[in-house]
Amino acid sequence: MTRVALIAHDEKKPDIIDLAQEYEAVLSTFDLVGTGTTGKRITEETDLHVNRKKSGPIGGDTQIGAEVADDAIDAIVFLRDPLTAQPHEPDISALLRICDVHDVPLATTRTAAEYVLEGLARDTGNADLL
Ligand code: PGA
Repeated sequence: MTRVALIAHDEKKPDIIDLAQEYEAVLSTFDLVGTGTTGKRITEETDLHVNRKKSGPIGGDTQIGAEVADDAIDAIVFLRDPLTAQPHEPDISALLRICDVHDVPLATTRTAAEYVLEGLARDTGNADLL
C-alpha cells in the first residue's frame, strides 16, 4: 500500500487540515503516517487514520526519515513554515536530505502537495477520487 507522511509546522497546520479535507477520499486509500500533533489534528478533523510518530521537535521528523531510509515511504507532504526558526532544524534538514537520497517526492508547499497527491492518485488508479 502506498505510504504517505504528513507533517506541518504550527503555522501551517490549518493548511494541512484543509488539504486533508479536500483530498480526504484520495488520502483514505493510502497508509498515512504523521508527526504527533499534525497526525492528531488530522484525525480529529477528518475521518482519516494517521499512524502517529512523536511530535516533530522531539524526534518525529527523524522517525519518518528512518522510514525513508528503509524505503517504506512513497511520498511526503511537509508544509514548512519558512518564516519561523524551528528548534529541530537539523532534523528537518536531515529529512529533506534523506528524501533526496532515496528520490522520495516531498512537497513543502500547498500547491506542490496537490501535484504530488494528484500524481499518486493517478499512479494508484484512484484519479476518480480527485
Ligand atoms: P508536529 O511536528 O506535527 O508534532 O507539530 C511537526 C514539526 O514540527 O516537524
